[in-house]
Amino acid sequence: MSPNSDSPIIVQKFGGSSVADAEKIKNVARIIVNTYDKGYRTVAVISAMGDSTDDLVALAGNLCRNPGGREYDALLATGEMVSVAAVALAINEMGYKAVSMNGQQAGIHTEDLHNRARILEIKTENLINHLNDGYIVLVTGFQGINSKGDFTTLGRGGSDTSAVALTGALNAERCDIYTDVRGVYSTDPRVVPQAIKIDQISYIEMMELARVGAQVLHPRAVELARQGNIKLCKRSTFDLEDPGTMMIGEVTADRNNAVTGIACDNSQARFAVEGCPDRPGIAAEIFGSLANENISVDMIIQSLGRKEGTNDIAFTVGSTDAYDAMRVLEAVKDKIGAESITSDVEISKVSIVGAGMIDRPGIAADMFEALAEEGINIKMISTSEIKISCLVEKDQGHDAVRGIHKKFFPHAHATEDVLVNEKVGY
Ligand code: ADP
Ligand code: ASP
Ligand code: MG
Repeated sequence: MSPNSDSPIIVQKFGGSSVADAEKIKNVARIIVNTYDKGYRTVAVISAMGDSTDDLVALAGNLCRNPGGREYDALLATGEMVSVAAVALAINEMGYKAVSMNGQQAGIHTEDLHNRARILEIKTENLINHLNDGYIVLVTGFQGINSKGDFTTLGRGGSDTSAVALTGALNAERCDIYTDVRGVYSTDPRVVPQAIKIDQISYIEMMELARVGAQVLHPRAVELARQGNIKLCKRSTFDLEDPGTMMIGEVTADRNNAVTGIACDNSQARFAVEGCPDRPGIAAEIFGSLANENISVDMIIQSLGRKEGTNDIAFTVGSTDAYDAMRVLEAVKDKIGAESITSDVEISKVSIVGAGMIDRPGIAADMFEALAEEGINIKMISTSEIKISCLVEKDQGHDAVRGIHKKFFPHAHATEDVLVNEKVGY
């Protein structure tokens, strides 16, 4: 059954691993065509093939010290242009009509800011016309154009956000995000094979998990889905029988588990402004200057400095902002009369997230105990109502996640212990 102009719209998104080679592209083409055959006007947002965005990032890194701005976006945006055209060719070959669109052709307008622009508006006319003409529309993820008509990108992992924003703008029935795992797990299954798949997760918990580094969904995508009440599902490209993980509005109060998910973020940098004079206005000067450069700060700790009447102020930023943060801090240091600035990129932020931890004392202590049992030292701690984060040495990040997972999801590891015991002959 072919869709007509009254048919519901579905937006699907396929990540880089789903379109990594010609065979995988053909598989994705079949999934899209199946949806179209069920009578849906179908829009598919495609990410760059395999690791090709990483390759473009590495190329830029070999060409300049601090890649960024217009030309960096122009370079990164090419990855998705390759993949949409490739999927369109595969669909056309199957005898269907497909059209590929880049961010401009799809009418995706963003802020002027490069490298992590937000989508402001999607002008859907071109998209709708093609859908109503019977086309399957393939849209580049991760990119848009700004008020100057230049390409912008939405931040790494931003194709998810393109898909959710299109779902809202097109008033589509739902948004299915296809990837190489069966949905959202209690932690990254590559790090902890015993991770448990979550059937339903609240937007708010998913948003926190995404923000603290679970790369499984882009934080802004979840935020947009929550705001627009958009049906959002994360599922597997390679196991179509599995319904995946559905985002839901409400948080179930009586969960058995206080912790829903655990994430590890290795792309943070820690700065310390040491020997700051202990007077009003110093923190405002430091963080105001960083904010003026659009640099978001995460964990913050102020402690007594070595010299009397001074403080040390330590905090973390995303590692892509580290170069700019250092530049800003050098200037601030002289202005406020601080002693020195130190930085450390060999860190990992490990976080637990769960609406079930509200009003449940002891969760933080359990997390710290799990780290202690692994012999892992904590450098910084931050908490919010449904999240606790600890900064640890980078090479201990994965061990930290495993230890914490075992603490909060012991049942998932039970058979592992039996197997280990069997192996050693108990
Ligand atoms: P895509 O290329 O489809 O966008 P990503 O690499 O961005 O895929 O995200 C999928 C990967 O996210 C998975 O392969 C998995 O290793 C990782 N991941 C990290 N945390 C989680 C989690 N909590 N649940 C599921 N996957 C996770
Ligand atoms: N290709 C981009 C990246 O690798 C965007 C995405 O895949 O979501 O970050
Ligand atoms: Mg992704």
